[in-house]
Amino acid sequence: MRELQIYPADVLKKEAEPVEDPGEWDELVADMRRIVSEEEGVGLAAPQVGESVRIFLMRDEPDKLQWSAYFNPEIIKVRETEKIPESCLSFPGVKIEAERGRVVTFKALTAAGEEVEMTVENLLAQCVQHEVDHLDGITLVDHASLSEKMEMQKQLEEAKGGGKSET
Ligand SMILES: [Zn+2]
Repeated sequence: MRELQIYPADVLKKEAEPVEDPGEWDELVADMRRIVSEEEGVGLAAPQVGESVRIFLMRDEPDKLQWSAYFNPEIIKVRETEKIPESCLSFPGVKIEAERGRVVTFKALTAAGEEVEMTVENLLAQCVQHEVDHLDGITLVDHASLSEKMEMQKQLEEAKGGGKSET
């Protein structure tokens, strides 16, 4: 059974491979759907469950717990860029500021193999940029400032439950 991969898992740092036939990935998509719904995430990329392929799931609407799968996504246009708070299921407890566009147009294949072009805003726009980053092996650590990286180290150790002894 596939499980959520936590940073610094190697698969999170690799560029993922394009998918030839979206129809062949039902089982992976089902696993991703199970994990993203358990975590109530906005989105999830295949490398986060250990598969280095260009697939991500994203909520159909920002506040609905219902996700669709997108294959071989390509960002076409990013508008209204600003720094906004961002977190990631693979970085438990971590929050940083990342530069993201508020409006994003992207294209991708659906599970049925149809090409779609979509423009999304705000939370979903941030999600598309975040998930496509995952497919390129880019994670929060690549967007973090030096002070955020130091804070991140602490948060990740705390999340592991162990961490260093204080005494
Ligand atoms: Zn993420």
